[in-house]
Amino acid sequence: MPVHTVTTIHGARASRLHVTGRKPLIPLGRWAGIEVGADGTWLIVFALVTATLSRQFTSGDSGLGMHRDWALGLATSLLFFLSIVLHEFGHSLVAIRLGVPVRSITLFIFGGVALLGGEPRRPRDELLIASAGPVVSLALALGYGALAHAIAFATPVEEALVWLSRVNFSLFAFNLIPGFPLDGGRVLRAALWAWKGDFDKATGVAAGVGTLVAFAFMTLGVVIALADGQFWNGLWLAALGWFLLTAARGSLAQTMVSKLMGSVMVRDAMTADYAALPPSISLRDVVERYIMRQGQRSFLVTQDGNLLGVISVREIRAVPQEDWSTTSVQGAMVRRSAIEPLAPQTTLLEALAAMDEAGLNILPVESDEHLVGALSRDQVFAVIRTQREFRV
Ligand SMILES: [Zn+2]
Repeated sequence: MPVHTVTTIHGARASRLHVTGRKPLIPLGRWAGIEVGADGTWLIVFALVTATLSRQFTSGDSGLGMHRDWALGLATSLLFFLSIVLHEFGHSLVAIRLGVPVRSITLFIFGGVALLGGEPRRPRDELLIASAGPVVSLALALGYGALAHAIAFATPVEEALVWLSRVNFSLFAFNLIPGFPLDGGRVLRAALWAWKGDFDKATGVAAGVGTLVAFAFMTLGVVIALADGQFWNGLWLAALGWFLLTAARGSLAQTMVSKLMGSVMVRDAMTADYAALPPSISLRDVVERYIMRQGQRSFLVTQDGNLLGVISVREIRAVPQEDWSTTSVQGAMVRRSAIEPLAPQTTLLEALAAMDEAGLNILPVESDEHLVGALSRDQVFAVIRTQREFRV
């Protein structure tokens, strides 16, 4: 199997569609403050790579030698996936330095994904974040190459080092193909963005090239699959093309949504007479009377018109169900002092970022320190959905 055709993608858009919502099946811990994990599909590719490598770097011995082959295969396979994680770390550490938060790094069947919490603000930042990954892969290729050269004996270990050097070089080269969402596509977007000053148009062109690249992979994959003995290699390439196609399309859709969210203000999406709960009502009453019957999932908590806090399904579910009758809203809510209210002229994009930041599903809207309404996450999505249906 051609493990050299492995992608690594990063970004808030492309990756959000593929990774979030699925918790990584295999958590690999926090490295330098970033959550690293592997998707369930990664196990398949890990097993295949390990098995292939164990047969490739064989010493020809039986008995003890076979164990050695497997150990070398396993070590090389682990170093290969470590290389992918390091590539993602290249993107991530530069992103963090430039003020773009990084949520996670996930290994999956086609490589690795770094999930960023936002988009770069300037073309220069995009260029630096996008090139950092390939730079790491190139450095690893040179490093493994130098090690192999230093050993200079035709042993299985040297063969493994040469392989690691080559595979890192392939990672470097493959990811520089200028189709979005590959790194090369992001470099292209950064260049177009700097040149024309239009982020959306630059994304459109880069994603267009990405779509062409994806179709080329799928076509080539089918042709290779029909050749003698190349069925799995061809299928792999075609599947990779399909993945890139959905990622490119997803990025475009996400760009459109972000643009919409950046053009709608909180005052046009909020509810002025938002249903508010009294502080003394029990959680069981909230669940039975409001959530189950009316479908509302987040609430302000007020007394005599004064805001005391907010509560949503998330806070209620944090309380064990058997305590719902004896716990009041006041006892489970997020207090006013811990909340930064929204201003009416804030955009929905900023409002959603503020909710993410605060870990809340609803925020009060205040004008001149007066409560004028509330905006929930559900409302933001409903507004975006409606806008898309009528504008597109
Ligand atoms: Zn990359």
